[in-house]
Amino acid sequence: MEFIRSSEVKIRKPHKCWGCRREFPIGSLLKTSTCADMGKISTTYWCDVCDTIISKMDYYDTQDGFSFGEIIDNINDEDKKLYENKNLLTTP
Ligand SMILES: [Zn+2]
Repeated sequence: MEFIRSSEVKIRKPHKCWGCRREFPIGSLLKTSTCADMGKISTTYWCDVCDTIISKMDYYDTQDGFSFGEIIDNINDEDKKLYENKNLLTTP
């Protein structure tokens, strides 16, 4: 997977965070990252909390990318508090 760019955008339609599967409404600020993977360009959206968790990981753990929801499925209790602190672990 080749990393192309990353930026922060105000979304113009609802998007799910790739790391935690939560859906964010229009106007939310999400990080995007665009990758080229086997000839396909794909853009994924990430919330603040997932972005923080990824930034704490070793590069080695991040270079293969993540499957949908992989972050929230694999975090430890300490990191789960980050979602709770932001009051974001509520189901819609
Ligand atoms: Zn997230």
